[in-house]
Amino acid sequence: MTQTAQNKTMIPMLDLKAQYLPIKEEIKSAVKEIIESGRFILGKNVESFENEIASYHNVSGAVGLASGTDALHLSLNAMDIKEGDEVITTPFTFIASAESIAYVHATPVFVDIEKNTLNIDVSKIEEKITAKTKAIVVVHLFGLPANMTEIMELAKKYNLKIVEDCAQAFGAKYKDRAVGSIGDCGCYSFYPSKNLGAYGDGGMMITNNSGIHETVKLLRNHGTVGPYQHGFIGFNSRLDEIHAAILRIKLRHIDQYNQNRGKIAKIYSSILGNAVKCPVELEDRSHVYHQYTIRTPQRDKIHEILKENSIASVVYYPLSLHLQEAFGYLGYKEGDFPECEAASNEVLSLPIYPELEPEKAEYIAKTVLEAVK
Ligand SMILES: *Cc1c(COP(=O)(O)O)cnc(C)c1O
Repeated sequence: MTQTAQNKTMIPMLDLKAQYLPIKEEIKSAVKEIIESGRFILGKNVESFENEIASYHNVSGAVGLASGTDALHLSLNAMDIKEGDEVITTPFTFIASAESIAYVHATPVFVDIEKNTLNIDVSKIEEKITAKTKAIVVVHLFGLPANMTEIMELAKKYNLKIVEDCAQAFGAKYKDRAVGSIGDCGCYSFYPSKNLGAYGDGGMMITNNSGIHETVKLLRNHGTVGPYQHGFIGFNSRLDEIHAAILRIKLRHIDQYNQNRGKIAKIYSSILGNAVKCPVELEDRSHVYHQYTIRTPQRDKIHEILKENSIASVVYYPLSLHLQEAFGYLGYKEGDFPECEAASNEVLSLPIYPELEPEKAEYIAKTVLEAVK
């Protein structure tokens, strides 16, 4: 097959254009309206979107921000977490979960993950809690909520703040509560590839705590308390009107998008059976399949065979955070988090997006099955 022919038939990890086409006219007219209004920053779309997100999550406050990373950073800042403090998180996540801890000059403290869910292993958190521990950044990885009941019990016992990193879990529920509404705050990313994605960077912090709400709102806009009056040093981290307008349109479809992801996941799991380890479905929480991640010692071989068959697949994450050069100063070494390191060697994420045709999902799963034979 020629290179071009191969590219043409390649099944991608996600297809943003397929999601755009059915809402194209709505998006175009919303964007046009904003351009013609001349109001681009902190206007009615951001405000309405914040209200819609708050009501979707049944929380009192939501603040539109420039990115998910900023949502984490400004939340920790608003909680007054600072130099000398320790914040616990997972080493098996995107770097932003821990980077945000470093931004406020606190120390990230990693805890190994559970084999089953790939989320933080709650049974290993307590031994890492010290007098300096102030918070836990809980990541709902790949769209599957972490064990929030146990985490909230630890929070109560040790007086810790809980920041939920929901960047990969928009719409996921834990015991019938929306993720992000259980801890002290929830942080969302609207990076284009996320379940609810903008056409650029964007983020949101949600909370029931009016103090955190007010502080993050001021922090995103230079600590502005009145016209050219600055109560403290803040940041420039606002969600744009154009992105808010696009996200408001997509928000109306998010539950359908997530249901479609669930259907693809079902097809994968039913065909793959026990040939590889498929993502777990747990009774007390819903999985929104930001990624459909399989696990097998034959990972590299499967990745190659999928590629030969013009099917994309990606390793999330090939190198745990505790082994990243950026966190070298923390002094971790190989072997510190065996479950996390084993996962890095065995995981593979398959294409998943709401518009992926069931026949293609079947073809992908059968190709994986063939590869592990
Ligand atoms: C995407 C992501 C972020 C960061 O979001 P940005 O909007 O890209 O800054 C944080 N945490 C996790 C787990 C993510 O997947």
